[in-house]
Amino acid sequence: MGDYNLLINGQMVAGDATMDVINPATEQTIVKAPRASKNQLDQAVAAAKAAFPTWSRTPIGERKKALIAMAEAIEKNASELARILTQEQGKPLADATGEVFGTAAFFKYFAMLDLPVKVIDDSPARRVEAHRKPLGVIGAIIPWNFPMILMAFKVPPALLAGNTIVVKPAPTTPLSSLKFGEIVKDILPAGVLNIITDANDLGGALTAHPDVRKISFTGSTATGRKVMAGAAETLKRITLELGGNDAGIVLDDVNPKETAPQLFQSAFQNNGQVCIAMKRLYVHESIYDQMCNELAALAEQAIVGDGLEQGTQIGPLQNKMQFEKVKEIIADAKKHGKVIAGGETTGKAGYFIKPTIVRDIADGTRLVDEEQFGPVLPVIKYSDPEDALARANASPYGLGGSIWSKNLDRAYDLATRMGSGTVWVNKHADLAPNIPFGGSGQSGLGAELGEDGLEEFTQLQVINIAR
Ligand code: NAD
Repeated sequence: MGDYNLLINGQMVAGDATMDVINPATEQTIVKAPRASKNQLDQAVAAAKAAFPTWSRTPIGERKKALIAMAEAIEKNASELARILTQEQGKPLADATGEVFGTAAFFKYFAMLDLPVKVIDDSPARRVEAHRKPLGVIGAIIPWNFPMILMAFKVPPALLAGNTIVVKPAPTTPLSSLKFGEIVKDILPAGVLNIITDANDLGGALTAHPDVRKISFTGSTATGRKVMAGAAETLKRITLELGGNDAGIVLDDVNPKETAPQLFQSAFQNNGQVCIAMKRLYVHESIYDQMCNELAALAEQAIVGDGLEQGTQIGPLQNKMQFEKVKEIIADAKKHGKVIAGGETTGKAGYFIKPTIVRDIADGTRLVDEEQFGPVLPVIKYSDPEDALARANASPYGLGGSIWSKNLDRAYDLATRMGSGTVWVNKHADLAPNIPFGGSGQSGLGAELGEDGLEEFTQLQVINIAR
């Protein structure tokens, strides 16, 4: 699988230690990846700090050109990046290819944005302008479900705004990020982009580092709390994109046969390992049995296997810890509901679980209340949409949610009363680089993507001139 190195100060360097990266479809070691020491983390931050004065003064037009060149480099190396992504993450090759091209598209999108000075008051009394200044060194912490595209939520807006950055991928999926570093390193001045990897032991140090001005974090709510606490000492800016327990509410006018494939895709895309996957589905009693049967049939038909094999629709869970957690949640769900599809592993090597549908289950169980983050969907019966909405809103999470109906007025009314940061109507998990995305409640703080996401990588400065 070739060599993998850290990117520090424009150079590809070996880690002070190494760590095994496992292919979740085979449980075999893919390669020994570099593992950075605390000293190497400090070197990466120092390089980013040293690169900041020049990069922040580089005209935005030059920074845009760099983002475009990075996008083109990603596209040119797409097939290699996609194969690496499938092997380390598990997702089918077609999905990995989509993620890689999506990453390039996100770089191109941010290359179109500007940070113009806004004139707030231009009167005989005063002229007041709002400027958006870069912050300094950014720490970007990434989870293992979408190693490439989630990096593209952070790197291009951070660099466009004139910041420099230290990226830390998840320990189980470092390879695509390291390969990305190798591919783009000569496009940028040394130190502007640094990529280090760890064995889950450097996130705290990056968060607490006195020379890092902001942490842009995507991961679990539990770790998000630690990031918030760790950033307090230096009053760092933080953006937190955390866990979710997205509800879908299906009203009584929906045709189960027509809609089930979309619902299935919303819940099982990336093997359910999506922050905005549909994680609990509330279905009206009048169509409940039919919807359960349609979903179970789709689950039975889905082809589960190694993402490198042609035809695979659902890969393995990404890592052993998640595999064990999902198995436990399914075991618990069997006590409180009825499994009508899946419910077991494939029995082969690899972290495979058959797509699982559980019916006759209610709120107050692990599967409904917790973030399962895997291929198992609870389908919950309701009779009053107001009651379903209240149950959807009862979660401490508030990432996404969706309403499904042929009557747009009814759906819209319920959508506006859902508590989540994003609400979709007749779809779920539709993200685009120009649409701001952020969670309410314990799903996060701040926003990513769009112009709002770009502004989060800046400091507001007001210039107020007497007349
Ligand atoms: P995780 O919180 O375990 O790890 C995320 C990252 O944080 C990893 O890079 C990890 O090494 C790092 N980390 C670990 N300890 C740290 C510490 N003390 N300080 C700072 N960083 C530390 O999450 P995960 O298991 O990799 O990812 C799954 C979770 O991510 C799910 O809850 C999912 O919903 C969430 N997620 C959210 C979004 C979103 O945009 N809201 C997107 C994808 C995933």
